[in-house]
Amino acid sequence: MTRHRLVLATRNVGKIEEFRRILDDIAPGQIDLVGLEQFPELGDVEETGTSFEENSLLKARTVCEQTGLPAIADDSGLCVDALDGNPGIFSARWSGVHGNDKANLEKVLLELAHVSIVDRTAHFTCVTSLAMPDGSSITQEGILKGYIANMPAGDKGFGYDPIFHPVGSELSLAQMDSSAKDAISHRGQSLRAIAPKVVTMLASLR
Ligand code: IMP
Repeated sequence: MTRHRLVLATRNVGKIEEFRRILDDIAPGQIDLVGLEQFPELGDVEETGTSFEENSLLKARTVCEQTGLPAIADDSGLCVDALDGNPGIFSARWSGVHGNDKANLEKVLLELAHVSIVDRTAHFTCVTSLAMPDGSSITQEGILKGYIANMPAGDKGFGYDPIFHPVGSELSLAQMDSSAKDAISHRGQSLRAIAPKVVTMLASLR
């Protein structure tokens, strides 16, 4: 059996492990997934797109061109209805400081301070993309619907997990085990849906 090399456009070890688990479930032993830590000479791709899909494709295409290998990438964020879909593609830097999860979620709570619980609906979106060396590409969206709580709860996960409750859940994402979150998350859904297509496209390279 041919084992296909696939580059994941991230240096986040947790993300690499999550992608590896899901791809290995669908195509055991067939994909050799490597992260950008294998390519220390490459800089970060600037997310200049205006949508999750554009940014996700931009990352996959850039890394594919730079390495000459098929590349997979994702882009995700939180969209709050009462904030006109924000923070959206700005989720990682909503407070002005890139990657400050606490400041980002506190800003969202402040902005929703006078919004009643019935109007605090929100969803997470994730778009996963595959870019192939022949220039072809595919994308797949995953969505998790829920609402923003009045206060943070839980210490698992990352980002906005402590303030996000999936529809019908008393628990925030930060109160769930990672396997329970993976099973319903926007990222898990998008990756599980694209994985069989990734396997088919990689197999066509032979
Ligand atoms: P990225 O797609 O990894 O760049 O993530 C963008 C940002 O969206 C993260 O920094 C988080 O703030 C937020 N985000 C994306 N997915 C999640 C999630 O599953 N839980 C909490 N926050 C998330």
